[in-house]
Amino acid sequence: MTSTWSPSSWRDKPIAQDVIYEDKVHLERVLGKLRRLPPLVSPWRSQLADVAVGKAFLLQGGDCAELFDDCSQDPISHKLSLILLMSLIILHGSRLPVVRIMRIAGQYAKPRSKPTEVVEMDARGPNGEVIKEKKEVLSFRGDNVNGYEVEERMPDPERLLGRPVQECKVQEGKVQVDEGLLPLHRHAQLHPHPAPLGLCEHAQTLEWSFSHVRSPELQKAFAGVIESLQDSLDFMRVATGGVGGNERGGSETVDLYTSHEALLLEYEEALTRPIYEPKPQSFSAPPTRPGTSSDSRSNSHVRGASASSSAGASTGLPRSPVRQRSFIPSSPVVPSSEHGAEDAAKYYNVSSHFIWIGDRTRQLDGAHVEYFRGIANPIGIKVGPTMQPEELVRVLDVVNPDRIPGKVIIIGRYGADKVDKFLPGHIDAVKATNHVVVWQCDAMHGNTKSSQTDPSLKTRHFVDVIHEITRSMEIHREKGTILGGVHLELTGEVNEDGYSVTECIGGSMELEDKDLSFNYRTHCDPRLNYEQSLDVAFLISDHLKA
Ligand code: PEP
Ligand code: MN
Repeated sequence: MTSTWSPSSWRDKPIAQDVIYEDKVHLERVLGKLRRLPPLVSPWRSQLADVAVGKAFLLQGGDCAELFDDCSQDPISHKLSLILLMSLIILHGSRLPVVRIMRIAGQYAKPRSKPTEVVEMDARGPNGEVIKEKKEVLSFRGDNVNGYEVEERMPDPERLLGRPVQECKVQEGKVQVDEGLLPLHRHAQLHPHPAPLGLCEHAQTLEWSFSHVRSPELQKAFAGVIESLQDSLDFMRVATGGVGGNERGGSETVDLYTSHEALLLEYEEALTRPIYEPKPQSFSAPPTRPGTSSDSRSNSHVRGASASSSAGASTGLPRSPVRQRSFIPSSPVVPSSEHGAEDAAKYYNVSSHFIWIGDRTRQLDGAHVEYFRGIANPIGIKVGPTMQPEELVRVLDVVNPDRIPGKVIIIGRYGADKVDKFLPGHIDAVKATNHVVVWQCDAMHGNTKSSQTDPSLKTRHFVDVIHEITRSMEIHREKGTILGGVHLELTGEVNEDGYSVTECIGGSMELEDKDLSFNYRTHCDPRLNYEQSLDVAFLISDHLKA
């Protein structure tokens, strides 16, 4: 590991899952444009230190791969609404503030197990008839790299600009996602869709129907939770002058943060900016009056300071009109050398609040770990069965040398059949250090299987997802550590007829393998649908009650 870090020092390291661009001049021109963009988000003083010690729960979810085409009002509203509802259900059972992070506004680049794939295409036979022809093409690497359509598979640097993404961020992110604020009433207009296979009907989000739930006992249990949740929301509405209605901003806002896998390091580098953070004990500061708290106020913004008093972690419920104020300007401020302030400038990735390293790019001496070790954002590391316990500790030492509590989320993705074998060793290894991490369970990526009806479709079984989450919680309890949160691939997306997607098997609607082709829409990994996601939320909520 070199000792001098810069946003570009990763370029001297071997890089996994690289994208090769033919036109380097074009690439440079695009990177130049990205470097001139204003920050897309403000630095996040995260509540993850609270999550690490069990004072808050972390819910992270969204698409495996976002598409530029989905960057419009309805798909975004569906996504936000689902996460919000899940968080309310979890909060209801656990009585813990829920930190919500979405895989959104940047999840446009994918690692792939193979650089190419074989696709079937229509071709002309000897007599002009249409025949199917197999062709090997470059794999789809996400909209930031190439297009899903077979003829668009060459990596195109222009895609790094993700034009629709920028428009979305202006329209959506700056007001809602970036500031972590979202008017609660909007979600009440969502999901006017009948559920798949005619099993349930939603009029409005908060008018629930559990007709898709096949078991009567489960139906009753879910309905009970919702009734009580509805009571609380009604109470809040009266107490605060109207959830969703009031112009003052009132209680209709909740915090929500963006995240993506930081795979394309050229892109991430171009959106990495030095941001000045005043030193806590500034020698030019006026003396504090006895009894005032200005010192502790400034300390609360310092790296590593406890996040427990931050606004976002207070309740997780609709709450007072406090915007999460960062004292850091959203445009970079170059520190003045007069005050010796250079030391206090920290580099932030300003493309997202939170970024993570994938399981395929977390090599200790690789480019991604090098990039991640220098940024001040909270970060994640995907960890699967191939990660050796001592290697995990070495990666933590490298990416979090200052041992900032809650800075690193270890995102376990072992699989239902492997979590018992590998998670305990990872917990023991980290427990033996002074790292305070957030343990999160990604219950998706170790549980991908092929459909039996159509082996070309990837699927996941709801029971595997639940098993991995439940076992992770139990193992942590046995070890005296805490499962701080979950990481899920999910979507509230519906088709033109209003039906939820059918990509994963099981859940309370008991979706079967043969149902998968009904509304299979993902361009990458299979996602839990609206109903299955709420099922997971109910189960987590129930577990956290115990
Ligand atoms: C993902 O999160 O979509 C992904 C590719 O995960 P992993 O790095 O765990 O395979
Ligand atoms: Mn995925």
